[in-house]
Amino acid sequence: MHGYSKLYIGGKWIAASTNEQISVINPATEGCIGQVPAGTAAEVDLAVAAARAALPSWSATSPEIRAGYLKRVHEELVARAPELAELISNEMGMPIKLSQRIQAGLPAQVLHSYVELLGTYSFSERIGQSLVLKEPVGVVAAITPWNYPLHQLMIKVAAALAAGCTVIAKPSELTPLNAFVLAEIFDSCGLPPGVFNLVSGYGSVAGEALAVHPGVDMISFTGSTHAGKRVSVLAAETVKRVALELGGKSAAVVLEDADLATAMKVVVTNCFLNSGQTCSAQTRLLVPEERYHEAVGLAVEIAMEFLPGSPHDIKTKIGPLVSAQQRDRVLHYINEGIKAGAELLCGGLEAPEGLPLGYYVQPTIFGRVTTDMLIAQEEIFGPVLCIMTYRDEDDAVQIANDSIYGLAGGVWSASSEHAERVARRLQTGQVDINGGRFNILAPFGGYKQSGNGRELGHYGLEEFLQLKSLQF
Ligand code: NAD
Repeated sequence: MHGYSKLYIGGKWIAASTNEQISVINPATEGCIGQVPAGTAAEVDLAVAAARAALPSWSATSPEIRAGYLKRVHEELVARAPELAELISNEMGMPIKLSQRIQAGLPAQVLHSYVELLGTYSFSERIGQSLVLKEPVGVVAAITPWNYPLHQLMIKVAAALAAGCTVIAKPSELTPLNAFVLAEIFDSCGLPPGVFNLVSGYGSVAGEALAVHPGVDMISFTGSTHAGKRVSVLAAETVKRVALELGGKSAAVVLEDADLATAMKVVVTNCFLNSGQTCSAQTRLLVPEERYHEAVGLAVEIAMEFLPGSPHDIKTKIGPLVSAQQRDRVLHYINEGIKAGAELLCGGLEAPEGLPLGYYVQPTIFGRVTTDMLIAQEEIFGPVLCIMTYRDEDDAVQIANDSIYGLAGGVWSASSEHAERVARRLQTGQVDINGGRFNILAPFGGYKQSGNGRELGHYGLEEFLQLKSLQF
C-alpha cells in the first residue's frame, strides 16, 4: 500500500488543508493500492507561491547548471526504473514487460534528451540589428493523463525545467503514485525548493484552480479534448499560454502495393498497445476494397495473439483497461458498432474468459466500418480496430481526413516516395511511413481538435520559451 498524506510544495512535504484522500485502484485486481491527498485551491495557492518565489533564481541559472540537475535526476530515475515500471503497471494495467520499456524507460530517455539538448541549444539569436532572447515563460502547470502517466509528465517537466521555468505538476487522479516517486527523486537530487511542486487532486478542483490562477503563466495540458476545451476557456481570463495535447482517431492508410502482412501486423499491434489507450493509436485501418478479405483474415489472425491477461505475467501482451468507467465506455462503443451494422470480426461485448476480476475487454475488430458510424468518428480509447475500405487514393485521403482529430497516422506502400506523397496530404501531426519508429526528438502534437502544442525535442523546449527582441 502506497500511502501519501502530504504534497510536495516548496521543497517540503506539506499536509493538505482537507483530509480528503483519493484511492488508487489496481485495474487488474480491483483492489486499492494507495492513497494520495485530494488537493484543493488552497494547495494550488501554496504551490503557485512556491513556484513564483523560485522562478527568478532558477530562470537565471545557466543551461549547464540546469543540465547538471537534470542529469542527476536522470541517474536516479534510471536507478528506480524497475520500481516505477511495477508501480505504473499496478496503477494502470500495462503488462510489465511493456511497462519496463515504455512507462519507465521512455521518460528516462526523454529526460536524457533534454540534458543533451541543453549542451547545444542557443537561447538567443541575431536577426539583423536585433538580438532575440528566448526566455522562460514562467510558472508552468503541467496537467497530465493516466495512459502514459510518467512519460506525459516528464515530457512537460523536463522541457519546462530545461527552459528555466518552474513547475506545478497535477497528475491524473487515476495514476498519481508515480508522480510522488518523481517528487521524491527531485527532492533527493537537491533541486532548489519550489522549482518542482506536486499537487495531486481532481481535475475539476485542483486542475481548474491552476487554469484560473493569475500566478500561473502557462498550462501545458494533456488529456481529453473535452477537458482541454474547458481549460482553455478558464485560462483565457488571464491570457495565459495554453498548450494542448488532446485526443485522436488516427488512420493507417494501406496503399494497394503495400506488403499487407507486415502492415497488418504493425497496425494491429499499434492499435492494441496499452489496451488501445494511446492517444496516437491507429484505430482506423483503411484498405483498398479489392484487398479487404485478405486484410481481414490477417488482422483477425494477429488479434488472436492478444489474449488479455495479468499485467504481471511476462507473456501478457494486453492487460485491463484503466478503470471500470473506461471499460464501460469502450463496451458502449462496441455496442454502438454492432447496432450500426459494422461487421464484428472478433472480440465483442462478452468479458474475456478466465478473468473474474479486472476491467478487461476482448480485443475487438470491426469490418465494413463507414465514416458515418460513431465508431469511425469518436475516440474509443480501448482495444477496438475499425477496418474501412476505399475506392482510390483520393478516397483514402478523404476518409483519413474526415475527422475532427489529427494527431497521428500511417501510410504503407512498396514505394516510400509514394507513401510520402500520400502522407503529405494527411491533416495530422505525425505520420509513420511503413511503420517508421517513434522518434523522441521529433515534434509530437496535433492538428485540428487533437491540440495545438508540440512536445519532445527542441520544439518541445520552445513551447516553454517566450521571445524578446532587443534592437541595436
Ligand atoms: P482527462 O481529460 O479526463 O484528464 C486529463 C487530466 O486533466 C487529468 O489530470 C485530469 O484530472 C485533468 N482534468 C480533467 N478535467 C479538468 C478540468 N476541468 N480542468 C482542469 N483539469 C482537468 O483525460 P484522461 O482520461 O486522463 O486521458 C485520456 C485522454 O488523454 C484521451 O483523450 C487521450 O487521447 C488523451 N491523450 C492525449 C495525448 C497527446 O499527447 N495528444 C497523450 C495521452 C493522452
